[in-house]
Amino acid sequence: MRQVAVLGSTGSIGVNALDVIQRLNRAEGGFRVAALSTYSHVPLLQKQIQVFRPSLAVVGDEAAAKVLSRWARSRKIPLRVMSGVDGLVQAASAPAVQLVLSAVVGAVGLQPLLSALRAKKTVALANKEALIVAGEIVMATARRYGAKIIPVDSEHSAMFQCLGGRTGPGAGVRRLILTASGGAFYRRTGSLDQVGVEEALNHPTWKMGRKITVDCATLTNKGLEAIEAHYLFGVPLDRIQIVIHPQSIVHSLVEFEDGSSLAQLSHPDMRLPIQYALTYPDRKPSPVRALALDEIKKLEFYAPDFRRFPALSLALEAGRRGGAWPAVFNGANEAAVQAFLGRRLPFTGIPRLCRQVMNRFKKRPPPRDGLRGILEADAWARREALSFLGKERLSSETLTKGGVKPWIS
Ligand code: MG
Repeated sequence: MRQVAVLGSTGSIGVNALDVIQRLNRAEGGFRVAALSTYSHVPLLQKQIQVFRPSLAVVGDEAAAKVLSRWARSRKIPLRVMSGVDGLVQAASAPAVQLVLSAVVGAVGLQPLLSALRAKKTVALANKEALIVAGEIVMATARRYGAKIIPVDSEHSAMFQCLGGRTGPGAGVRRLILTASGGAFYRRTGSLDQVGVEEALNHPTWKMGRKITVDCATLTNKGLEAIEAHYLFGVPLDRIQIVIHPQSIVHSLVEFEDGSSLAQLSHPDMRLPIQYALTYPDRKPSPVRALALDEIKKLEFYAPDFRRFPALSLALEAGRRGGAWPAVFNGANEAAVQAFLGRRLPFTGIPRLCRQVMNRFKKRPPPRDGLRGILEADAWARREALSFLGKERLSSETLTKGGVKPWIS
């Protein structure tokens, strides 16, 4: 029995992961869910607790923890309840847990990830922000403690599968080719200034959470994924090519020094990379239907439009600069996406806000080395983004009525 902690179990990845675990258990057993967590979806968490009977549940804050404890006691469900990052850290490093699936959203997943690695757990990593914010430290921690990180992000799972788990000079990698669906606005012409939240959330091929879907629409997600691939596989960013592939069938490629390229293909269904991370190095049957290439007929590939989607260039710039820069970009982006979803920022304001924060960071003295400097830069970027947002009072009314002017130079 492998004991699993699922962090972020009520999000899109978490729900799919529990579905995968249930199917695998029905087929041949093998997994026990030891811990579950949610930030705020307590009713769904309660349903999951009734099905999976974890010994630990983690929620966003104290108040929610009290509600959940009372609920568990009233139903005579033995359950330890914790809250916040401390709770996530406990779940990620609990002695009984062997495998941690981290699917929380945002940089809040960093401390739990580091604790899991220090406790020598295998981590199935869907929380890309943690790796982006502190990639060097995360990978060094994994190496130092001999802990494995198995990517859950579909593109990185594809590369991981093509690499056969190998990295370093012997793997003979020349380039990584990262595919992108193009997001909600790839085919759209004209200005993106006035596009609404619902339009941005209408992803052509994947059904995912709100934050990542907006990141796909700006192409920020692809920039973040390039940084993620750079850290995971030790390949410099200038040897990672981004290609728009609207069908989302080829999930990424690895080009080797001998001229061979390997790709991983499947229908876009997150249950596949999630299951592979759980059963690696084995493969098991899954509900994902097989490809019928004669039905698909056409696989297209295009260069991305960096001018129309400036967030992609900003993310890559942050990645190339390294150090605390990815944390600064990511922190500004998390604040900007939240503001966009709250209708306090137009769509094109997302990259503008990130650029503004990055420009300010250039003028600051460099942060101190190590994790502390990165966390300070992250907090600084969020504060800075909020202060820019505060200066501009955009009501949802002005946004829906149109006429919103670019407000960040
Ligand atoms: Mg992805």
